Amino acid sequence: MTMMKSPLSMSILMDRGPQLSSDVEIVTRFRDRLHRTNYGEVGRRARQLANALRSLGVTPGDRIASFGWNTHRHLELYYAVPSMGAILHTLNLRLSPADLEYIINHAEDRIIFIDEDLLPLLERLAGKMPTVKQVVVMSNTGEFKTVLEPALDYETLLAAESAEYTWPDLDENTPMGLCYTSGTTGKPKGVLYTHRSNYLHTITGSLPELLGLDRQATVLAVVPMFHANAWGMPFTALMLGIKQVYPGAMMDGASICQLIQDEKVTFTAGVPTIWLGVMNELRNNPGKYDLSSLRTMVCGGSAPPRALIDWFETNLGVEFIQAWGMTETSPLGTVSRLKPHMLEWPRERQLDVKQRAGMSAPGLELRILDAVNKEVPHDGVSMGRLLIRGPWIASSYYREEPTEDKFPDGWLDTGDVATIDAEGYMSIADRSKDLIKSGGEWISSVDLENAIMAIPGVAEAAVIAVFHPKWQERPLACVVTRPGTTLSKEEIITQLEKQFAKWWMPDEIVFIETIPKTSVGKFDKKVLRQQFADFELPG
Ligand code: ADP
Repeated sequence: MTMMKSPLSMSILMDRGPQLSSDVEIVTRFRDRLHRTNYGEVGRRARQLANALRSLGVTPGDRIASFGWNTHRHLELYYAVPSMGAILHTLNLRLSPADLEYIINHAEDRIIFIDEDLLPLLERLAGKMPTVKQVVVMSNTGEFKTVLEPALDYETLLAAESAEYTWPDLDENTPMGLCYTSGTTGKPKGVLYTHRSNYLHTITGSLPELLGLDRQATVLAVVPMFHANAWGMPFTALMLGIKQVYPGAMMDGASICQLIQDEKVTFTAGVPTIWLGVMNELRNNPGKYDLSSLRTMVCGGSAPPRALIDWFETNLGVEFIQAWGMTETSPLGTVSRLKPHMLEWPRERQLDVKQRAGMSAPGLELRILDAVNKEVPHDGVSMGRLLIRGPWIASSYYREEPTEDKFPDGWLDTGDVATIDAEGYMSIADRSKDLIKSGGEWISSVDLENAIMAIPGVAEAAVIAVFHPKWQERPLACVVTRPGTTLSKEEIITQLEKQFAKWWMPDEIVFIETIPKTSVGKFDKKVLRQQFADFELPG
């Protein structure tokens, strides 16, 4: 015999914080006040919640949906639902009613837990969710009205239950979480996480090598809990018992700055759009906030502009860590941090590294392949389709057979096109669908966007492919300028010419009011491409 085959069960990890750090705080921002609780209380309430679910007839494998902001109640759902053997399906509250209806019915959700202020979004689907037998409203007053029925009040439900509950022994491959991709491309697809996959993801994600989290930290998860498990932070924090701060619905720059200052946040994570908002707030109000507690900012979901990374590191003295991942990868895939010998490098060279998506997390394998599935050289320039493999990578979509194009030979084809450099740092050149294929050669829209967004006076920029009779596709740059600035096409071209080969240069630059965004705040190039579908490039 060798070692014990103890199942990798998430309840064991999640019980650790409440057991060892019962007094450590968990703070939630509501519109009118801050709510304070602690690990001990969350541990007890998670057990009350599990008892309530049992009283409502929930059995192992049932899909229990959440439709909520980042709050302590959402954390209790993260904790209780998987620990009792059911599956937490986090619903993206920014989805269109049609996508939401599709997802709820595809998952066959049985109960939906919803924040009171979000009721109107779900009420549009009243009568269209045949499998949903119960709605539970997470309200601060208990005085809500809704056409959805039957509806119960979360706090009343918990109050009636005992805080004694023994988590069942579960096989490590028991499913525990379900999240649908936000549909930047095509229909949403479900990704089903297991205890084992999340356990390994949580342990790995807490390595200092990756995000530099430790028990002294105070974590503010701005990335939504409905978006790829808030990048695993609620689980990691529960395991380590570190202070958590949740922003609720208040994710604008001013609210985030205030929260970081008041709660002395040291570690935070979110998508670039959030950090652009924070940067603008700080720039517009010099001296208003004291953010000296902040040490680490994690940014992923789309490529952070170089200027953004540089601004935060220079002005706040934080470490700005870029990460790459997907719903299908739990989501932690790669993280970009400097190796020791790079600490001596000049600033611009360090920024070159920080602008890359980074090195793979331990336990994961990456490959980049060309059109005939040959490995592309790791020279930092050659682009290939990015494939990934590992214990927390999806092997198929929920209720679908794995297709050979998406899951070739047991790998996941990410749909991203990437380069890997000699140091092992991966960089996303594009999503395959966004890549500009000009005369058989590939142009990275992301590289062009980053360069344009680094020009003072530019607020946002997206580069898309438009039809060209000779080259098939050519780049069109859509630029949003900062209020009160004037910028000409020529000024942008002059800047780009310093950095790119002639055949990479956008054929045209258009100034637009705003760039359409997806439900998780990424540039929605699908919409932009439709807007410019008939665009004729200058001769
Ligand atoms: P969706 O696929 O619905 O947009 P995901 O959140 O799963 O939702 O998005 C994953 C995708 O986001 C990746 O495949 C990649 O294209 C993009 N992405 C994530 N992180 C980065 C990053 N650091 N740099 C560039 N692109 C990123």
